Amino acid sequence: MNTIRYDFRSDTVTRPSASMRKAMAEAEVGDDVFGDDPTVNRLEQRMASLLGKDAAIFVPSGTQSNLLALMSHCGRGDEFIAGQNAHLYCHEAGGAAVLGSIQPQPIAHQADGTMDLGEIESAIKPDDNHYARTTVIALENTFGGKVLPVEYMADVAAIATKHKLGLHLDGARAFNACVSLGVDIKSFTVPFDSVSICLSKGLGAPIGSVLIGRQDLIDKARRHRKMLGGGMRQSGILAAAGLYALDNNVDRLADDHRRAKTLAEGLAAFRELKVTSPDTNIVFVDMDRDLGDRFTDFLASKGVGITGTYGKQRWVTHLDLDDDAVAGALAEVAAFFRN
Ligand SMILES: *Cc1c(COP(=O)(O)O)cnc(C)c1O
Repeated sequence: MNTIRYDFRSDTVTRPSASMRKAMAEAEVGDDVFGDDPTVNRLEQRMASLLGKDAAIFVPSGTQSNLLALMSHCGRGDEFIAGQNAHLYCHEAGGAAVLGSIQPQPIAHQADGTMDLGEIESAIKPDDNHYARTTVIALENTFGGKVLPVEYMADVAAIATKHKLGLHLDGARAFNACVSLGVDIKSFTVPFDSVSICLSKGLGAPIGSVLIGRQDLIDKARRHRKMLGGGMRQSGILAAAGLYALDNNVDRLADDHRRAKTLAEGLAAFRELKVTSPDTNIVFVDMDRDLGDRFTDFLASKGVGITGTYGKQRWVTHLDLDDDAVAGALAEVAAFFRN
């Protein structure tokens, strides 16, 4: 195993900086299950007010946050509508079905990452004993690093309102979307009853996500969090990292986006590579499958960490990768194609 010099595998690999660690070490804490941790309370209040929602709850992971949202929107035997490749349907080990007795109704994505509005509407079940009750629609933005239009989210919200459904946003990287669009997080998340945001990705905190939303949903989520074993005690140490991230690491996401563009342009110089131009911090590259295996192995041997199989690669920029890291990785790419 070679050591990774430039780690583009994910923005989850970021490590807390010295000043973030200092904020964590100095955090005022209490027992959060009793509601006593002042730092957790401050983070939850801060997120609720940033998004203009009633309340928020700090949780260990984005997966738990999405699961709590679905379990709070839905009862046993209810159904949620989500994209075929949505993280909360595809990449969360079927938690909603296993732990919530909630069934997914997946909808195919169009080339631009959105779901067809007509397909969403026709997937909503009539009120009839034969069917599961459709209860909530879940969107994801950014989706695969792509920023889906605010108008699309409003269109889906109109469908949800018309059919009296809840609307959830998996906004693991919602701040990336907002920085890319130049809009504030409050206007971006206006139509949603609940929003999940990760602190442990591009924002650079070691652990944690926040679920923000309507009071009744967050109250239920608090009960479900306890049930799932997510009640934490002096978790102000972790919430302090989240508060630090909100103060220091949001605007700088623009640097990650700029570096992703530089990386994409550098990769696109090689005609064997088909590069998708990034909206935010994720670059996808397609190539011939055999070439992909050799290229990915070569990069690994040179200490360039990426994720890739079957001729597809994903490169993610983040706050632990600077301009030199992008240049260094591109130098290895050039070395591969020179040979
Ligand atoms: C990472 C991610 C999650 C899950 O977050 P974890 O903290 O890894 O559980 C959920 N949704 C999306 C879109 C993500 O990218």
